[in-house]
Amino acid sequence: VSFGAYRPLSLDSVVAYLRSRSESADLLDLTADLSVREVGDGNLNLVFQVAERDRPSRSLLVKQALPYVRVAGEGWPLSTRRAHYEARSLRRFFESAPDFVPRPFWHDDVMALSVMENLREHRVVRGLLNERRVLPGLGEAMGRFLAATLFDTSDFALPSDEKRRLVGDFDNPELCRITEDLVFTEPFSEAAERNRFNDLVANDVRDLQGDESLRAHAARLKLTFLTSAQALLHGDLHTGSVMSLGDDHRVIDSEFAFVGPMGFDLGLFLANLLLSACAHEVRTEHRAARAEFRSYLLQEGRSMWSTFEADFRERLAKAESPSWNSPAFQDAFLQGVLRDTVGFAGCEMIRRTVGFAHVSDLDGIENPEARAVAERLALTLGRTLMLEAQGVSTFDDALRLMRW
Ligand code: ADP
Ligand code: MG
Ligand code: MG
Ligand code: MG
Repeated sequence: VSFGAYRPLSLDSVVAYLRSRSESADLLDLTADLSVREVGDGNLNLVFQVAERDRPSRSLLVKQALPYVRVAGEGWPLSTRRAHYEARSLRRFFESAPDFVPRPFWHDDVMALSVMENLREHRVVRGLLNERRVLPGLGEAMGRFLAATLFDTSDFALPSDEKRRLVGDFDNPELCRITEDLVFTEPFSEAAERNRFNDLVANDVRDLQGDESLRAHAARLKLTFLTSAQALLHGDLHTGSVMSLGDDHRVIDSEFAFVGPMGFDLGLFLANLLLSACAHEVRTEHRAARAEFRSYLLQEGRSMWSTFEADFRERLAKAESPSWNSPAFQDAFLQGVLRDTVGFAGCEMIRRTVGFAHVSDLDGIENPEARAVAERLALTLGRTLMLEAQGVSTFDDALRLMRW
């Protein structure tokens, strides 16, 4: 077999592929009996876990991009170039925040694949939250990850020539376009054909799409996404892009990486905590249990922000250029990031209810009537966050908008 040109791997060809690459030899005994499992549950890519059958702790993970969108089939082509952005952003994140990502081993641009640490016992956060599991230190880990990666790739840390090069290196036009359409445009447009929503919330959706003021905020947030180049973002930081084991939390799946507004990553994660809380309003029958988990989720959101803010301020205080050491500038900058965070969070909550790509937190609720209750909460909260974001000065102000 030859792997000189792109071809999608299968359970049968993964091992032959690895044996053709000398880089794998240190990580795994390629002459041993190896087990291969396909674990991809995502929308886009193939993911294989390869382990020595006798020593399963010796393992690695292979993630390969397909030339189309996996959930949609071959009728929605998408270039495999996204693997290039994912491999490079993972390297960059590993340099800034090695404790919060899987260790990258190597990547193959021709095959559009990355080989990385296999988080064999970690589980995806979204599923854990659906089970109402408390994940110690989740928000704090996200705050640390974001402060480190966003600061290190911003103008506060990089000389301007390097920063400009970073913007070009991570242009990632195809995946950015998906976000522009699915997050900012289609959910607010009655005519968008890819929107999907529960019939029982059709009136709520019509009402939302007719709100001119909301549409103005969606336009503003979209323009911020398109034009603000603050730092290298993960770009798809929902709770399905984080894996946890105990107090160890790792960010995966950065194929949407591009240089954009910091609040987009923060806002996406916050929104997905809130979506879990909305879902538990009907998933969890007992009032006290539900209130307890909701307050846990809000606390993780607050901890993400406060850790991010404190850590980012510490880094700013040590920035080399004297331009950045004005306290008034630092306050205004972080307040701007907070407002973006709240606005993007609102947008994400709406698009996960109305748009093409949903979340299992809500879609996993089988009874349509019960699901509509949770979906209405998500729509109401999302709308409030979008409309009120510009008036928020502290995270506590934001929390006051998150009551129901
Ligand atoms: P996609 O881009 O298709 O969403 P992901 O990177 O999210 O792909 O991976 C899909 C799934 O594969 C994850 O939800 C997780 O279950 C598993 N996975 C991904 N990366 C790893 C890893 N490094 N270790 C263990 N499992 C992983
Ligand atoms: Mg994923
Ligand atoms: Mg650790
Ligand atoms: Mg992905």
